[in-house]
Amino acid sequence: MSTDLTTYENLLNAITVDDGAAVHDPATGELIGNTKMSTTAEVDEAVARAREAQKSWGALTHAERSAYMHKAADAVKASAEALAQVLAREVGKPLNGPNARFEAGACEAWLRANADFEIAEEVLVDDESGKAVINYVPIGVVGAIGPWNWPMMISIWQLAPSLRMGNTVVMKPSEHTPLSVQALIAVLNQVLPDNVLQVVPGAGDIGQAVSEHPDIDKIMFTGSTKTGQAIMRSAAADMKRVTLELGGNDAGIVLDDVDVDQLADDLFWGAFINTGQTCAALKRLYVPASIYDDVVAALAKIATETPMGQGVSEENVLGPLQNEAQQKIVAGLVEDARNAGATIVTGGNPDANQPGYFYPATIVSDISQDNPLVQIEQFGPALPIIKYDDLDQAIEWANELDVGLGSSVWSADAAKAREVANRLIAGTTWINKHGAIDPRVPFGGVKKSGMGLEFGVEGLKQVALPKVTAR
Ligand code: NAD
Repeated sequence: MSTDLTTYENLLNAITVDDGAAVHDPATGELIGNTKMSTTAEVDEAVARAREAQKSWGALTHAERSAYMHKAADAVKASAEALAQVLAREVGKPLNGPNARFEAGACEAWLRANADFEIAEEVLVDDESGKAVINYVPIGVVGAIGPWNWPMMISIWQLAPSLRMGNTVVMKPSEHTPLSVQALIAVLNQVLPDNVLQVVPGAGDIGQAVSEHPDIDKIMFTGSTKTGQAIMRSAAADMKRVTLELGGNDAGIVLDDVDVDQLADDLFWGAFINTGQTCAALKRLYVPASIYDDVVAALAKIATETPMGQGVSEENVLGPLQNEAQQKIVAGLVEDARNAGATIVTGGNPDANQPGYFYPATIVSDISQDNPLVQIEQFGPALPIIKYDDLDQAIEWANELDVGLGSSVWSADAAKAREVANRLIAGTTWINKHGAIDPRVPFGGVKKSGMGLEFGVEGLKQVALPKVTAR
């Protein structure tokens, strides 16, 4: 009889082992459990099983695979609270706000959306010269390698379209959040056929084994630009297909016609969602001199009033950084900004006596474009606000970095906002919001933020091979 995975205790028991690597709560340092760590031989075995399972999975119709995916979504819904509890402990993200429960809910929504997209044969030519059609057929085995910031949601972004298109999947979670991904996969595997979806927890060496594996046909990767470059090099040997969702340093430009009080909350959460540990979060904000002080004050007020603490406590909506390395990066960048003469309006100065990797929500003003806190992805709760006098200059600053994931324009004038949006170089430019994603709307980066698109029908096509038939 299979175990009921709808409680946190049962789910944790199903995914932890006695002798694996220890996993700790980043808010308290408490041991959560031990995770299995795979060997490269186990990667080989998983890939061999995935290749065998792909034959029957790929032979199903779209309707049959979609039915499985809806059943998988039902299973996620039934275990949603248990999954959120795992996220709250392992990632540290609070249960409430746009955090753990939100992430578990998004997994269900993404599965259903991917189950329901229509992907029909496209007729390209049908006239006296002949008929040509294009179909999207399975690639084979997809290797999916993920980061630690949204471990379940990003896994779903990778596995849902891959499965829908008839591929089998071998997932390599981040070594920082192995339990979250194993929990999600245990829940999904209650309903999926054997070996269609497998997980090989491990560190970078296991990621490398996946990306170099000759029997893996496509890599879906989300993580840093540096690792993305290594994966692209590994993939070249077998001409593997790759989708790379990499780092960003998203700019937001506020125009001088906004109602500051009305937008302040959306600006704050655009930057501080998941305590700033979000690829497409607002990471540098350009504000005109005429309303600069008002915007700084409004954001500092929210930063001071927003509760931060342990993930499992219901009152919090900001949590710790997920790991010590990330906490050091944020602290170092803020200290460098202070030493360069910037003003730390609120935050900075983490409490050295507090356990866990906390860093307070920090607003930095009077900072110049060339400061490292502006130039480097901080990936944490510290927002630099840069003053501008000339909109053309702000657009130039927004565009001058070598990454381009998201960006945003904030204005009361829709036409003017659109005009500025058209001049920003990024995969997505949002207007009067930042980082809002939708399973129907393609998402991806330009420049060193990545290659390829996820979500929507475009996303399905990227985990399939275009097959033309012509007569
Ligand atoms: P990372 O690149 O350090 O690690 C990501 C994954 O790659 C991990 O599972 C890791 O074990 C694995 N890995 C490490 N070395 C490898 C190698 N040589 N070959 C194959 N795999 C290897 O990234 P991270 O620190 O986990 O994530 C944070 C970064 O991810 C930030 O830059 C963030 O902006 C980016 N990110 C991007 C998106 C997006 O959609 N564009 C989403 C989330 C995070």
